[in-house]
Amino acid sequence: MARTKDSKLATSAVWNNNYWLRPPIEPDKIFVHHMVAVNWTGVRCGEYFKHAGVSSNYGIGYKGDICQYVEEKHGAYCQGSKYWNRRGISMELANDSSKGWTVSDETLNACINLVADIAIRRHLGHINYTGDTRGNLCMHKWVANTGCPGPYLDKKFELIETEANKIIDGKLRLHVRGYFKEGDRGRDVRILQRFLRSQGYYKGPYKGAVGRYLSGTKRAVKKFQKAHHLTVDGLFGEECMKVAERILKG
Ligand SMILES: [Zn+2]
Repeated sequence: MARTKDSKLATSAVWNNNYWLRPPIEPDKIFVHHMVAVNWTGVRCGEYFKHAGVSSNYGIGYKGDICQYVEEKHGAYCQGSKYWNRRGISMELANDSSKGWTVSDETLNACINLVADIAIRRHLGHINYTGDTRGNLCMHKWVANTGCPGPYLDKKFELIETEANKIIDGKLRLHVRGYFKEGDRGRDVRILQRFLRSQGYYKGPYKGAVGRYLSGTKRAVKKFQKAHHLTVDGLFGEECMKVAERILKG
C-alpha cells in the first residue's frame, strides 16, 4: 500500500521497512535524537538507515530539511527497545560538527516546528520536558545506554519545549537564528502571516504559500518595517518583534 507523509513539514520521504506495529500502544512521547553524522541531509540519512537495519520516524538534515522514513502509526527502530520504539515518535537531527555534536539553527528550528506539529496533530497537549520519561519530550539516553542526543542538544530541550509551546498556543515567535527570512516555513511562519494580515500589511498568502515565507511575506514585512520606521530589509527580527509584541499587548 502506498505510504503517505504524516507531517506537511516533511518535504521528502525515504520509506523504511524497519518498524514495529504500535497497537495497542498509542505513542505519547517524542524522542529527539542526533544522527552522529555531520552535514547529512534528511534524505541521505534515510538512504543510510534503509540498509543499516535501523530507522526513525523522521530525519532532519543540516539545512533544516525534513524527511519521513516511517509512518507515525508505526514505531521506528530508534530508542533501542520494542517498548520505547512503540511509545515514541522519533526524529534524528543532523549534526553540523562533531565537536560537541552541535546542530545548525536551521535544524533546531525545524525540530521545534516538527515537535509542535506532532503534538498538535496527535493531541498530545503542551510539550512537557521534565528531565525524565514522565514528560512527553524525551532523550534516547534515558531509555538506553547511549550518549544520544549529545552534549549540545542535551542543553536545548528546554528551548525546544518553550518554543514548541509558543507554536502550539498560536503565539508569535522568532526563528532560533533571531529572525525570519525568505525560505522559512512552518506553523510559526503561518502565525507571522496571520499577524501581518491582521495589521493590514498583507492580503494573505495564496494557498501554496501558507506557512511559507516567500516574496509576498517579505513584501508585507517591508511594509510593516517602513510603517514603524525600522530598517527595511524584509527580515522579521528582534526590532519587528518588539513592535509586534507592543501591538499584540494592545
Ligand atoms: Zn538516539
